[in-house]
Amino acid sequence: MIDSHAHLFTGDFGQDLEDVLSRSWACGVTAIVVPGTNGRTSREAVELSARNDRLFACVGIHPHEAEKASEEDLAEIAELAAHPGVVAIGEIGLDYYYNFSSPERQKEVFLNQMLLAVERNLPVVIHTRESMSAAMETVRSVAEEHPAWRPEAVGDVKGCRGVFHCFTGTADQARDLFELGFFVSFPGMVTFKNSPVVPVLKEIGAKNILMETDSPYLAPVPHRGKRNEPSYLPLIAKAIAQVSGVPLKEVVEYTTANAVRLFSLKANVGTTQHF
Ligand SMILES: [Zn+2]
Ligand SMILES: [Zn+2]
Repeated sequence: MIDSHAHLFTGDFGQDLEDVLSRSWACGVTAIVVPGTNGRTSREAVELSARNDRLFACVGIHPHEAEKASEEDLAEIAELAAHPGVVAIGEIGLDYYYNFSSPERQKEVFLNQMLLAVERNLPVVIHTRESMSAAMETVRSVAEEHPAWRPEAVGDVKGCRGVFHCFTGTADQARDLFELGFFVSFPGMVTFKNSPVVPVLKEIGAKNILMETDSPYLAPVPHRGKRNEPSYLPLIAKAIAQVSGVPLKEVVEYTTANAVRLFSLKANVGTTQHF
């Protein structure tokens, strides 16, 4: 199993990261993708990927940080993106719920980093909240203007351009994203009672999805409200199986293969031995 989105930074995991990682490998997690949120955490993600060959980095400026981000910060992300441990640009996107940054600045920083992904031929990890149509419009126009972006996976294989993480859109929006070459990803919210993502997941199935913990946030039941960690991923896998009606083994197979393909991970990290 692959945790496609976990923020394993020193602020939350400084003291016990090695224990957290041991627990994760022991329960069948084979790789963890660590997305940056600003210059500092993107640097940390790159350092983690250099230290452990089952950790992979994304570098990017989160929409919450867009207002604070300078041109130098964007230049640093571009520089970090050249590191061999970097598998995507992210997390980037638009958040119109919190609006910690003005929508104009968010759009500017988002588009800048979408074009960086195109330039480096990397996939993107996208964050949205109350901003699904605007974010979809941006990725659609970038994808249409740059048909050669991530060409190696085009053909019968979809989902090569990126992932909308913590997906909270409709089933129709998910299907539009699949057509655009995007996956959608589900965190511990699938274990919450009456979660609005449950009927969506039921409708779209598990073929075009990824799994994530979004650690340290959104811990699944029965850890809800506590610090989340990648070793809780099996709880999410089980909930996805239950909700979608897809057997657990297939959920693990699809989501692992999708993450390996999207992030061009080494084939060996897809092998789950302990699950
Ligand atoms: Zn996010
Ligand atoms: Zn995140």
